[in-house]
Formats: sequence, C-alpha cells, structure tokens
Amino acid sequence: EKGLAKSRSGFGARLNKFLANFRHVDEDFFEDLEDLLIESDVGFEMTQQLSDALREEVKLQNAKTKQDVSNVIIEKMVELYEAAGQDEQTGLQMAPEGPTVIMFVGVNGAGKTTTIGKMAAAFKQDGKKVLLVAADTFRAGATEQLAVWAERDGVDIVTGPEKGDPAAVVFDGVKRAKEANYDILLVDTAGRLQNKVNLMNELAKMKKILTREIPAAPHEVLLVLDSTTGQNALNQAKLFKESTAVTGIVLTKLDGTARGGIVLAIRNELHLPVKYVGLGEKVDDLQVFDPAEFVYGLFK
Ligand code: GDP
Repeated sequence: EKGLAKSRSGFGARLNKFLANFRHVDEDFFEDLEDLLIESDVGFEMTQQLSDALREEVKLQNAKTKQDVSNVIIEKMVELYEAAGQDEQTGLQMAPEGPTVIMFVGVNGAGKTTTIGKMAAAFKQDGKKVLLVAADTFRAGATEQLAVWAERDGVDIVTGPEKGDPAAVVFDGVKRAKEANYDILLVDTAGRLQNKVNLMNELAKMKKILTREIPAAPHEVLLVLDSTTGQNALNQAKLFKESTAVTGIVLTKLDGTARGGIVLAIRNELHLPVKYVGLGEKVDDLQVFDPAEFVYGLFK
C-alpha cells in the first residue's frame, strides 16, 4: 500500500475491525470507540465531540445494525470535520493578477523544503512561471537543499548569504518577481522554534515586506506539519498560529503513519483546513486533501 491508503489503513483497519465485532450499541461500544479514536490521534476534543454526536444520532435514527452504525459514523465524521472549519475553501488563494506569494512556515524537519519542491513542480506543469525564495538563511544547508529542488524542477531561485537577513532575501525575491513577471513565489522560511520570539519577529518582518511590495501578499501562509509527530505537531501549530496568520496546513509524511486520525484533530483543534497532504519524498507525492474522500476511504 502507498501514501494516503497506508495512512488510512491503520486507522481504517482499526475501525473496520471494531465494526466487524459489532454486536449492539451500548455503553461499552462507545467507550471502545473512544479508545480507538484516541489511539489513532483523532485527539481528545474531537473524540468527545464525535462520540457525543454519535450517541445522539444513533438514538435519533434508531440505528441498530452494523451498517446503520457505520453510516452514522461516516456521516458524523465528515460533518464534524466540515463544521470545524470557517467555511474557507480548501483551494489556494491566488492573486487575480501579478505574482501569487505563498509562504511556508514550520519547524525544521517538518517537510517545508520538500513541499515547496513538489509544489513548484506542480505549478510549473500548470504553465506557471515559478520563483523560489530561500529565506531560511539560518539552517546550514537549507538554501542548497532548496537549490537542488529548483534545479530538479527547472525553476528559478533567489538566495542570500548564510546567516544573512532573511527579509533581504524576501525583498530581492519580490523585486525580481515583479520585474520579471513571475506568477508564483514560494518562500521558504526558518523553523528554529528554540528561539521562538526571534523567529516570529523574523516571520513578521518578511510578511511586512511582502505586503508592502504586493498589497495582498502573502496570499497564503501554509504551516507544514509532520503527521508522525502526533500531539507535538498540534502544539507546534498552536504556537505558529498565535503569532502568524496561518491560512492552511500541509500535513506531511502521512505515508509514514498508521494514525491518520491526526487529520481530524488538526481541523478541529486549530480550525484550519488541511490543504495538502505529503505522501512521500518524491516530486509527485503531494495531494490536494479531500476530507470526504479521506473519511469514506477509511471504511473501504
Ligand atoms: P524542512 O526542514 O521543513 O525543510 O524539511 P525537509 O523538506 O528537509 O524534510 C525533512 C525530511 O522529511 C526529508 O528527509 C524529506 O525527504 C522528508 N519528507 C518530507 N515530506 C515527506 C513526506 O510527505 N513523506 C515522507 N515519507 N517523507 C517526507
């Protein structure tokens, strides 16, 4: 199994096994289901909400059979996932004209560089003129790593000196984007959460420059989270969300976890849409995330 199927399979297999042993709806049924959801990283709050909603709906619909009960579970998962959002579209916000700027934030190792590399390739394939901006000047090798992706994708890149001012790199990037009519700017940023205040100030400064040069920019601020880190990913997300106007999540390494329930927890606890999921290290291992498809896939 590959990618999303694998991530779903751990969670889905647990659910399906649980339902296969179904006898009748009683208190034990709900308690066992709650344990299962927690073990799959659905998160405490979402588990509680889901369980409450199921109790009510099972009663309302007089659901008795295994089929009835699975249908109610599917229905409620999709419903709760969607209700947790702010009616935002899951697609990317694009500039009506001029360059669209997408900033990527997240801790080191989450998969920012890889996601940018994948996304640049997809935009290029769509006929867009793409510019990468290597504004993580802090981590040794970050710029080189992004340059490798630029080369591989056949797109351009703006870089600065190591330990140089990332805001200066951003400024160079926007200037070049405007002069040479780029369609898409993908901005990599530093992810050293050990120095939180500095990092947040740095991100704010970059944003200010972007907005000054291109009024609606950044059009998206995507927070990249490693799904294999479970609750940790959620805590990081809360930190970033407090100080940066994050517009969406890219959930990486879903191919490496059997606890795909994190998708539901993120939406519910952060009120941010998961826009993309990373399903591997290769260029085409990035997918637009479709919540209903994800939930239905659990029960296959
Ligand atoms: P950054 O520090 O946030 O820029 O993270 P990187 O892009 O360097 O990614 C860290 C590691 O995770 C690298 O080894 C990537 O190949 C790997 N990686 C990134 N995204 C995915 C993914 O979706 N699936 C898997 N399996 N590995 C990934």
